[in-house]
Amino acid sequence: MDLAFIALGSNVGDRDKHLAAARSAIAALPHTFIVAASDVEETEPLGGLQQEKYLNQMLAVKTALEPMQLLSELQGIEKANGRTRGERWAPRTLDLDIVAYGNTTLATVQLTLPHPGLPERDFWRRQIAQLEERL
Ligand code: ATP
Ligand code: CA
Ligand code: CA
Repeated sequence: MDLAFIALGSNVGDRDKHLAAARSAIAALPHTFIVAASDVEETEPLGGLQQEKYLNQMLAVKTALEPMQLLSELQGIEKANGRTRGERWAPRTLDLDIVAYGNTTLATVQLTLPHPGLPERDFWRRQIAQLEERL
């Protein structure tokens, strides 16, 4: 099993409810266990579009799913929670990103690991620090 960090974000509708639904759905994935959760934080939207603030949280999971399988499961959870594909950084009910997956590095069209946003997203770095304390 590998240790992966999954970022949860929501800025449409009942944001807490969307994060809670994501936690339950991730806990129910095959061969996947949540081992730690960060605090929930409110953050400003990225990318300069006029939109509501986000609620963000990060989960540490142990998983036997391969990175691409995990991504496709997470996209299924986004869809089940009303996510429609708009432009990058557009408002969304639920966004699930794989921030890191063990020591895997990958750069394909569908999946880049670690997530390329990690160096500039201070809230992700704070949440990872919390997860590392809580593991
Ligand atoms: P960002 O990825 O900068 O946070 P975003 O979450 O708004 O932006 P999306 O529209 O949700 O971007 O996703 C665009 C595509 O990014 C997805 O279809 C997915 O294939 C790809 N992608 C690449 N690397 C990752 C990753 N590590 N986690 C999740 N999606 C990824
Ligand atoms: Ca994102
Ligand atoms: Ca995303």
